[in-house]
Amino acid sequence: MGHRSFLTRSLLLAAFLLAPSATAQPGLPALSGPAERLGAALPRVHLVREDPARLVVVTREAPAQLARRYGVPPSAVTPLPGGQAELPLPPVAPPVREPFRPASVVPHRVQPGETLDTVAARHGLRVVELLGANLDRPSLDDLRAGETLWIPTAERGLLVRVKPGQTALSLIAGYGADLAGTAQANGVLPTTLEPGDFLLLPGVTPDTLHERLLDRREAEEAAREKAEARQRERERLEEKYARQARYEAYLAAQQARERARLQEKYDRYAAYLAWKTSPERQQLNDRYERQAQYEAALAAQAEARRERERRQAEAQAAARSAPTVRPAVAGPVAGLRWPVHGARVTSRFGEEDIDYHKQVFHGGVDLAAPAGTPVYAAAGGTVVESGYGAYGLNVLTGGGGTTLVYGHLSRAAVQAGQTVASGDLLGFVGCTGICTGPHLHFEVRPGGQAVDPLPLLP
Ligand SMILES: [Zn+2]
Repeated sequence: MGHRSFLTRSLLLAAFLLAPSATAQPGLPALSGPAERLGAALPRVHLVREDPARLVVVTREAPAQLARRYGVPPSAVTPLPGGQAELPLPPVAPPVREPFRPASVVPHRVQPGETLDTVAARHGLRVVELLGANLDRPSLDDLRAGETLWIPTAERGLLVRVKPGQTALSLIAGYGADLAGTAQANGVLPTTLEPGDFLLLPGVTPDTLHERLLDRREAEEAAREKAEARQRERERLEEKYARQARYEAYLAAQQARERARLQEKYDRYAAYLAWKTSPERQQLNDRYERQAQYEAALAAQAEARRERERRQAEAQAAARSAPTVRPAVAGPVAGLRWPVHGARVTSRFGEEDIDYHKQVFHGGVDLAAPAGTPVYAAAGGTVVESGYGAYGLNVLTGGGGTTLVYGHLSRAAVQAGQTVASGDLLGFVGCTGICTGPHLHFEVRPGGQAVDPLPLLP
């Protein structure tokens, strides 16, 4: 018991303190006179105070001698005023006393997988009875393998620990337990118990603790469910944001593709425009046009030459045969209107006014007018040609066996195959083909044979 060991230690200490007066120290002079013997009989060291860690003594002895006496190094002796000195005490293990527990309460080492419910059931207890012997359980659930549970094997009740300032009797009174029954259940007189000891109060149940722990379990479950719900919501939102981010990335990629496609299209168009307006292309176009005009002029010359040769051949034949009169042209060419308003006749049918007309028979009249002056159909019919030909850009119409030719146009206003009425716009005066100034070359060919148009015009 703690008291006994503490007492033993005090007695030993007293004996140790008294020892020097009874035992001669080696190396000290032998005692002789009565006064010296009296002095020797008196203790040379008086204990003033004792702590667990130190002694304070009053002595006349020198520190070194004191140190030798107590078996401590001389440096450990601290002189104090009034002939006192302080010495450290060698450490002594504190009194160890296992707290008392009633023998009927036995330990149970928790195995993996065990719960309060399974442990209680295994020992034939209700959970509340198990809790009664384990009042320090913080929860109904977090039981760990290796922990110790206390199992009441006989009486069930509250296993309480006597706290400092309490006594077993005050606990028995406080819980309203039966004194004799408590003494019997614990197998000890309650008066012998001290703080730290355990006392079984039979018949008392820890309802309050059980309820509190049940409430806590409920609160913990609610909190866990709430946390799980929060976690699920967080995951749901994260998934949603991730989906949104994926969609936005997809949109951005699509927009980038569309931009690239439009840019490429624009670049192609810009390149086309650059080519279309380039001097190279203009030159090319001009060359094609000149080539076409040149070829048309050559064809016209060839045709005119053949015509002249034919006429000469005819004239020679006529000269050889009896003189005849060429039949007058009639019918289909009646009712012509002027194809150009306010024009001036600069060259007549068959006239050799310029070198060209000397080489090529002039089969029509030249009607000079400012470039761009409208050219109207002299008679109705069908457009048989519209484009570059014998007279530059020319339009040929046919109707009633008569072909009308409108030459040297700057622009044509009709297309081949189109039907025109007398007075319809055909094009505009120009100077395409072989030409020395803007004019309309107008021919009338009844039955394919060119005649002088002037007599036919009003
Ligand atoms: Zn002409």
